[in-house]
Amino acid sequence: MDMSKTSQSILSLFKGAVCSAKTAREIRSKLPRVNKVTIYRNLENLVRSGKLRRISLSEQEFSYEPAKARHHHAICVRCERIEMIDACKEENFSRYLKKKGFVPTYHTLEFFGVCKQCLTK
Ligand SMILES: [Zn+2]
Ligand SMILES: [Zn+2]
Ligand SMILES: [Zn+2]
Repeated sequence: MDMSKTSQSILSLFKGAVCSAKTAREIRSKLPRVNKVTIYRNLENLVRSGKLRRISLSEQEFSYEPAKARHHHAICVRCERIEMIDACKEENFSRYLKKKGFVPTYHTLEFFGVCKQCLTK
């Protein structure tokens, strides 16, 4: 199946930065000519096909990031600052999952708490 134009435009938004997590709202604002339903449908397909992973960086909205990004996040619940955690322990789980016959497409690991700046305020 060919990837749609919208899916390609969405994926191109993530090029560049190592941590490029974007909320659905940010993605929508970058593609103002595409209607909301189309964007959500494409995001859904990209997650299902293993290109993007869905993470909840805030309670209101999901964020998306390329599934191959091998890092995680620490999110401040006060200022919503996102810090990248440049570590991934996927290999610790893969043998266990294999034994269960489970094939993972992607995984997420987010820590929620209070950042240094907010703690010293
Ligand atoms: Zn990230
Ligand atoms: Zn903070
Ligand atoms: Zn990981």
